[in-house]
Amino acid sequence: MPVTNNVAWDRRLEAFKGRDTAQYIATVIALASRCTACQLPLGPGAALSLSVDITEGRDLDGIICLTFDHSICHLQCQEPGLTIREAAGVAADPASVGARLILASRGTSGRDVAVLAYTLVPNMVFGEPGGEMTSVLVSALLNHGFQLSFNASYTEILRQAVPVRDTCTCAVAASGTVQLHVDGVLMHSQQLDTRCPDDAAWLEAARAGRVLVISGDNLMFTETALQLNAAARLGTLVTGTVPALT
Ligand SMILES: [Zn+2]
Repeated sequence: MPVTNNVAWDRRLEAFKGRDTAQYIATVIALASRCTACQLPLGPGAALSLSVDITEGRDLDGIICLTFDHSICHLQCQEPGLTIREAAGVAADPASVGARLILASRGTSGRDVAVLAYTLVPNMVFGEPGGEMTSVLVSALLNHGFQLSFNASYTEILRQAVPVRDTCTCAVAASGTVQLHVDGVLMHSQQLDTRCPDDAAWLEAARAGRVLVISGDNLMFTETALQLNAAARLGTLVTGTVPALT
C-alpha cells in the first residue's frame, strides 16, 4: 500500500492517473480539511487514507470519460480503496457549482467587476486511462478563447483577463437569473436575489457590459470563500471576460 504525504492510497489508482498520480494525490490532500467518515478535522501529521470512486463512461462521440470522486479519511476511520464502475449509457453530467463575487477594478474605469466563478463536481476528464488525461471543462473553455491562468491572485487575474470568443455570452435577466452559454450550450446558471444588496450590486456591475468568468477544475468553494490556489498550481484555472446580455 503506497503512502504519499501521510496518505495511504490504492495502487490501482496509478493505472488511471499515470504520471499525474502524485500530483492528483497532492491536490486532493491540499483541498481536504475534514475526515469524510467521522467529520473531524484531519489534523497535521495524521495518518490518512484516500478512497477514489471512478466512473467510466463514453460521451456521444464514443470517447472515454472518467469522473473521479474522492474522499480523504483518517486511516483509522477507513482503509484506502478504489472502486470502478461503468456509467449506464452516456456519462452523466456532473453538477455545476459556482458563486458570484465583485472585484474592485484597479484600472482607469474604476468600475466594479462582476465575477462568475464555477466548476463541475466531480471534475471530468477524457483520454486513455493511464495516459494523458484532459479536463473536459478546461479544454471546452480554452477552445472558446478562455486562457489558462497560473496565478491565483485576483489582481493578476483581472490584469490578464482577455475577452473570449463571441461564442460565449452571459445572459443577465431582470429577474436575477444569470446564465453562461458557450457555443449555445448552457454551461452554468445562478439565480440571484434582486432584493439582496450584494446580489443587486453584482447585477448592476454585470449590466455595465462584461462579466469576468473564472472556471476550470480544482476550484474550491466554501461558505465564504473561493480557493483558486490548487487550480492555479495544477494548470486547470481558466479565465476570460464574457459580454453580458441584458
Ligand atoms: Zn475520521
